[in-house]
Amino acid sequence: MPKHGQVLRQLVQLGETPDACWQWLGRVSPATGYGKKQFHGRTMLAHRWMYEQLFGPIPEGLVINHKCRNRSCVNPHHLEVTTQAGNTRHGAGTILTAEQVREIKAAFSTRKWGEGRRLARRFGVSNALIHDIWHGRAWKEIA
Ligand SMILES: [Zn+2]
Repeated sequence: MPKHGQVLRQLVQLGETPDACWQWLGRVSPATGYGKKQFHGRTMLAHRWMYEQLFGPIPEGLVINHKCRNRSCVNPHHLEVTTQAGNTRHGAGTILTAEQVREIKAAFSTRKWGEGRRLARRFGVSNALIHDIWHGRAWKEIA
């Protein structure tokens, strides 16, 4: 707990508007670009720390994704919970959310010719990934 009269070190620089990125002022890993925070004797990723302060513990196995692609940003509105699989699958630049995967799965039963390519373009992923999702080879964990 902070003591009376203690000056808390400033950790975050807020953006000029409420929806701008919040720049982490603590340590930032030169290798990964993620902010870091010492918390209860261990090093956490700054954006995960911020998320947990505001919304509570992050469920086991889930990761926090930066919707803004700015890894040192800790604006909670730019953070979303996603699965580890979604962050690493196919090493693609674009990360699907669970919601998008459900939408892709839902399109399977009513799909028309070219639907896979259309969805791939829309979500910025490969055509192969859409087919992997449809045929249960990717994102099996999303019903
Ligand atoms: Zn941001």
